Parts: sequence; C-alpha cells; structure tokens
Amino acid sequence: MTQTSASTAAKAVHAATDRPLIWVNGRIVPRSQANVNVFDHGLLYGDGVFEGIRVYRGKIFKAQQHVDRLYECARQIFLDIPISKKEMIEIQRQCIEANNLVDGYIRLLVTRGEGTLGLNPYLCPTPGIICIADQIALFKPEMYEKGMRVVVANRPRIPIECLDPRIKSLNYLNNILAKCEAIHIGRDLGITNPEDMLLEVIMLNIDGQVTEGSGDNIFIVKGGTVITPPTTAGILEGITRQFVMTQLCPDCKIPVREQNFTLKELLDADEVFLTGSAAEIIAVREVLEHTDGKVTAAHTISRGEGPITAKLRSRFRQIVTSDHVPED
Ligand code: PMP
Repeated sequence: MTQTSASTAAKAVHAATDRPLIWVNGRIVPRSQANVNVFDHGLLYGDGVFEGIRVYRGKIFKAQQHVDRLYECARQIFLDIPISKKEMIEIQRQCIEANNLVDGYIRLLVTRGEGTLGLNPYLCPTPGIICIADQIALFKPEMYEKGMRVVVANRPRIPIECLDPRIKSLNYLNNILAKCEAIHIGRDLGITNPEDMLLEVIMLNIDGQVTEGSGDNIFIVKGGTVITPPTTAGILEGITRQFVMTQLCPDCKIPVREQNFTLKELLDADEVFLTGSAAEIIAVREVLEHTDGKVTAAHTISRGEGPITAKLRSRFRQIVTSDHVPED
C-alpha cells in the first residue's frame, strides 16, 4: 500500500468510527467536530433547556409533547428559540436518518448561546441548538425483572419557589449531588455487581413529601391503585409519567391518581416504580436510608418486579414495539 492510500484508508476508518453525526448550530458534523464555544452560557452557567427523547422503530416517541415541553421551558427562562417546533422535529429526523437510527435516544439542547463572562442572558444574541441521536441502555435487561435498589437522598429537591423542577434546565446539580449520595454509599458498601449498584435516588421536598428520582418520576402502588406525586410536589412533569397515567393505566384498567405521599407511605407501598424516557418503566425492590453516608435502614418493597408494574411495562413494550409508536 502506498502512503497516500494508507492514509485514505485510515481516514475512512476514522470517519466510520467518528460517530454519531451530531447537529450543532445548523450543521451535521462527526462527533470529534461537535464542539461548543466556551462563551456559550449553556456551558458557563447551565443556562439553557433540554430534552431526552426515545426513538422506537424509527419514530420519535411523543415528539410533539417533548417539543412542546422544550418550548415551554424555554419560555419560562425567557429564551426565544429562533426556529419553529416543526423545524425542531425536522432536525431530529435528520439526525435519526444520518445515523441510521431505528431504536435509540435523542438528546436535544437549546443553550442561551455565546455571550460575555457576565450572567446577563440578554447579551447572548443567538441560542445554540444541539441534537445528538445515539444509543442508550441505562440498565441491563435483567434489572427490569429484578428491580432496582435505590437510596433516599438527604439533600432535598430544590423548592419550586427557587427553581421550578418543571423547568428541564441544563442545570442538574441538585439531581447530580443527590445521585452522588447513592453512588458514594454503593462504593462504601463495596458493591461491585453492576446490577446491585446504587445508581438512583429518591428525592424528598423540603416538606418531606416524595418528589422524584434524579432523572425519573416515581410511582407507588397501594391496594391496586397507582399513585404519583402531583407537579406541586416539585417534580419534572415527565412524558413517560403522563403516558403511564393517561394511556397505560387506563389500557390495563388500573386506577391511577396524583397524590402526595411521604417516605413512610412509600416504604409501606406494595410496589414502587420509576419512569423516564431513558429508564422507561423500572421497578424498585429495595430502598436504603442513610445518615452521613452510612446506611441506617434497608426496606424491601417487593421481591423483584411487582405484578402491576409488570403489567404496565408489558403494555409499554407492546406499544413501543408496534407499528403504531405514538409521535403525538
Ligand atoms: N424527572 C427528572 C428530574 C428527569 O430528568 C426526567 C427525565 N427527563 C424525568 C423525571 C422523566 O421525564 P420523561 O418521562 O419526560 O423522560
């Protein structure tokens, strides 16, 4: 092989592995070129909003609801997205196509854009738009039958009055630091089996009511009824949560309602499960409490996935593997 053809071959290999192709501010570029400006306030201040969206069978699951939430969150932070919702969906379709994605996950971000080193968002004239379409597998398939172990975070969820958790902003430090509580405990306990890793937390609000996980909504099942905290508890209004309440529960003829509950009520529940675009529907089998990083109590909720969680998850899978994946 000549030197030129070797370098051409090397370049082709690089291009094939330099994936996914990513939308960054109007261009689709390979992963290694998908960069943002260091003056973007999304980076400097976590100033921006985002979505995590599933792709099933080439369709964008609940595309309209995700885009509606993105624009509503942007409005709440006085961020004018310079393109239409239709164009925002089109960008996602282009990324799906460019990466030949059939089943996967989209991370869609709108940043405040480039500005000065000061906080003033009005000095950032052009919002940044990024769309990453890739694969995601949060948990191994067995975990869905076995259920997860989770930790109760001692750090409360940010109160609505400070920063409404309904705003899916690029600032996730409240959630990240809560999640670190679980990770640190897992390390302390010397857990090495990935299935037993403590990777999720349950966050309470400052009044002691249960809110949600670090990246998912929470449900309990009591006496055959499915219950989830209302948005006034201080939660993200999850699209999977909405799907469980308005489609899966009615389909399975399972009563569902929004109601606040305390940690004690959660520990008394027959079943507990989490929902999210990335996690989908996953059972919680055990809940750990801690003080200063030391586990003080371990509560078994159920042995593996409970029957109602299993029914809802099965209906969920039926829909997302069908020819009628809903994009509305
Ligand atoms: N709560 C939080 C804090 C989240 O980050 C997420 C994931 N987006 C959820 C709940 C679940 O929301 P959805 O079902 O829309 O993914």
